[in-house]
Amino acid sequence: MKIHIDENLCAGHGRCYTLAPELLDSNDEGYPTRLGEDIDVTPQLEDAAQRVVANCPEGAIRIL
Ligand code: SF4
Repeated sequence: MKIHIDENLCAGHGRCYTLAPELLDSNDEGYPTRLGEDIDVTPQLEDAAQRVVANCPEGAIRIL
């Protein structure tokens, strides 16, 4: 599985990396560090990926 965070939709309020720190990190401005990249998700982290997709208020994270 891969996920992608749309840098044009992300508002940087941090719900994703707060809910799933094992999957996502943040930069100094409070945005996820891998905006605009295709992020590989190991099978062990697929539940976390589903959680961040379901909880992003901007709909910025999608499963590829
Ligand atoms: S929850 Fe969504 S809008 Fe908020 S920082 Fe994460 S990707 Fe961006």
